[in-house]
Amino acid sequence: MSLGLYVHIPFCSAICNYCNFNRGLFDAALKDRYVAALLNEIETSGDGSDADTIYFGGGTPSLLEPAEVKAIIDGCRRSWMVAADAEITLEANPETVTPERVAGLRAAGVNRLSFGVQSFRDVELQRLSRLHSAHKAVEAFQIARREGFDNISLDLMMWLPQQSVAQWLESVDALIALRPEHASMYLLEIYPNAPLRDAMARGQWSVAPDDDAAEMYLSGFERMERAGYGQYEISNAALPGRESRHNLKYWTDGEWLGFGCGAHSTRNGMRWKNVAATEEYISAVTAGGHVTTDRRLLTGEERREEALFMGLRLAAGLDLQGMKNRYGVDVWDEYGGELQSFVDAGLLVYDGRSLRMPRSGMLLAHEVMTVFIRSTVR
Ligand code: SF4
Repeated sequence: MSLGLYVHIPFCSAICNYCNFNRGLFDAALKDRYVAALLNEIETSGDGSDADTIYFGGGTPSLLEPAEVKAIIDGCRRSWMVAADAEITLEANPETVTPERVAGLRAAGVNRLSFGVQSFRDVELQRLSRLHSAHKAVEAFQIARREGFDNISLDLMMWLPQQSVAQWLESVDALIALRPEHASMYLLEIYPNAPLRDAMARGQWSVAPDDDAAEMYLSGFERMERAGYGQYEISNAALPGRESRHNLKYWTDGEWLGFGCGAHSTRNGMRWKNVAATEEYISAVTAGGHVTTDRRLLTGEERREEALFMGLRLAAGLDLQGMKNRYGVDVWDEYGGELQSFVDAGLLVYDGRSLRMPRSGMLLAHEVMTVFIRSTVR
């Protein structure tokens, strides 16, 4: 399988009150130095191997100038054998979108945009301290279409403060009306020190009960399915053939290299990550030093377990013969005793050849997957 290349852009125009990603406030001078460091890292680590996806994640990669995106893509092409038909995705925030910028990104080689929409209801976007409105999200999508993007993904979040099931489904319907090729739909997780917690206390906002969260998840993906989108992973649905080629590498035991601060890589059984702090990353690259930390060889057991629980995220589930061929493990012999109760509860389907979670099981995916994690967690 060809490599996936991930490029991390850690800058945002404002910090959203629920965000736990590796990001900081945009600073033009810092961004210039960061892009130079990124190019340096990419060009000094290439070995000409095949790659067929590039993914700009963040942060807010759409804050980069199209010329900078082009320089990074060109750098990847010089360092790796990037396929002519590579999927090149860039995450974009709606408020950064103008026709000129989108046209520039397309000319730079980006062929897939992933918009962080989160909600099509303004009041919900305001509670999340997002900078865009629902109208702007629709406009950004339409601009991207007009500028020739025929592969667009939209992100939505459910279980937002004060959100009812019906209000969540309004956003799902608004997404379907736009007909993007792909959608990611996540339950909002509010981490312990998130500023959103304070805002919720001040505003006396609450989230709907757990049963409603389950209803949001199940009815959201059912509605997507009725509209022609296949749910192929716990949080992702796509029109036929439009699954994210890059993200599939994470779930199908693939290999990828990450560039930029905090980016992770997995290749040849090795796993490592780059230093997380932006300044530290720039200094290390500029000094020609090590940007990677925690480099280690995964044990055979870790690789097998990871292949199991990542593979189970997919709606197609695990091909048991494939697992046996690749890892020499008979999954049911090894784990069946612990998995049987999930099968009995209808949260897992075992037919002798494959093991998969129906949608109701995906809601409790963590519990099911824990069975496979013996070496790293237990
Ligand atoms: S735009 Fe995205 S990465 Fe940036 S702060 Fe908001 S949620 Fe986090």
